[in-house]
Formats: sequence, C-alpha cells, structure tokens
Amino acid sequence: MRKPLIAGNWKMYKTPRESLAFLEAFLPMVEGHERDEIVLFPTMSSLGYVLDRIQGTNVRAGAQTMHWMNEGPYTGQTSPTMLASIRCTHVMLGHSERRIYAHETDDMVNWKLKAAFGHDLTPIVCVGETLDKRQTGLTEAVLRWQIACALNGVEREVASSLIIAYEPVWAIGTGSTATPSQVQEAHRIIRREVAERIGQELADSTRIIYGGSVKPENAGTIMSQPDIDGALVGGGSLDPETFSRIIKYPKA
Ligand code: PEP
Repeated sequence: MRKPLIAGNWKMYKTPRESLAFLEAFLPMVEGHERDEIVLFPTMSSLGYVLDRIQGTNVRAGAQTMHWMNEGPYTGQTSPTMLASIRCTHVMLGHSERRIYAHETDDMVNWKLKAAFGHDLTPIVCVGETLDKRQTGLTEAVLRWQIACALNGVEREVASSLIIAYEPVWAIGTGSTATPSQVQEAHRIIRREVAERIGQELADSTRIIYGGSVKPENAGTIMSQPDIDGALVGGGSLDPETFSRIIKYPKA
C-alpha cells in the first residue's frame, strides 16, 4: 500500500554540470525501476537543470528547503510558487542541517509544510533526536514534539501526500546507522503521533522513511523492516553507481 521511496539529498554538492553528468550515468542505471519511487534533491542552482533533464523518466526532483511566503523582501530565499513554476514536485523541510546551521525552528517547519500543501508540493518533513537526547531518554519526547509542531493546524484533507523522514542526528554523515529495532521503534512513535494529530487512516498511509548513513551494504536490512517505507540518503546518493545499488536493495 505504501510504495517505498528512496531519496537522494545532495546537500551542498554538485554544480549544474556535475548534476547533469550524474544523470547521464544514473538514469540508464535505474531505467524501468518501478518498485520504489526515486527523488533527487539537488542544490537550488542545479534544480532547474535536473528538472528539465528528468522529464519523462521515472526520477523526480525537489528542493532541499523553501520559504513559506510566495514572494517578498527575503533575500536568498526561494518560494513555493517559484518551485511549482519550474515543475518541482517535492520539497524537503526541517532537515537537521537546516535546523542546526540555518536556525530553522519547529514553527517555520509548520509554516513551510502548510505552504507546501497549498502548492501541491510533496513534503518530506525531517525529524530526529540528537545523541544527547537519545542518551538522556528523550527520543520519544523529541519526536512527538517535532511531529506535533509540524502538523499544528494542518487539515487532514490536504495532507495525503505527507512523507516523514526519521533522521537521528547522530547517524547523519557519521557512518553510524541506527539499528533496525531503534528505527522500527521511532517509526512506531511517529506513526502514532501522526494518527493523534491527523487521524489513523492518514497515519496508516503516510510514508515514514529512514535517513542516516544508508549504504548499499545496509539498505536491504533497513528496507526489510515493516515500518520503514524508504530511505533518505545523503553521502550515498552522490555517486550514481552507489546510489543505484542502494535503490536496487535486495528485497527480504
Ligand atoms: C541526509 O543528508 O539526510 C543523510 C541521511 O545523510 P547521510 O546518508 O550521509 O548520513
């Protein structure tokens, strides 16, 4: 019922030329792959080129962030209207690197989420605890809080495209992957909180994906957990061959 989704977060890597070179190699490698949805998140400077190149393929692309307003005196920002106008389909919200380095707050994630729904952009809302919070037994509290804030005032009628990425901050770019049981437990907490906020039916159909040092070697184990509906891949998505091996994870 929940089609798995494998997303590649290119962070601040790849010029437009490098992005197109990636696609030349990558698109033939995943051609015809329908088991999983594939979405790339290039930098804003490459996004338009990538969107043009993937037209007619089985690959989609989105923005790594956006503002919640349609236009205005917000230097450096890109609006949901602007993304929609270049046929962008997805947007990532609240990635921990945005929360840490760009001081993105839970309120901003909430405003952005409402704006994404208002512009038919499929949102991937990122949540996850720091190592300190996990070690002090606060993982559940953090996850419930982040989900509750993100969904505050969101009407269930507009939220059917919601995707959540569970990304423990301590597992991002560190080589430490959360164990399948840690992820399974976190996803259970997230799904229950989504159900409380916008209803069980929507929670059951919401995809919850895992991010944090996913590699070709561990993708199959991660993807075989019943509550894991996909992966958000950072470092492992930068090389076409590595990313295509992740996408073709062996099915348990
Ligand atoms: C990410 O950037 O969301 C991520 C999970 O990175 P990595 O796969 O490198 O840990």
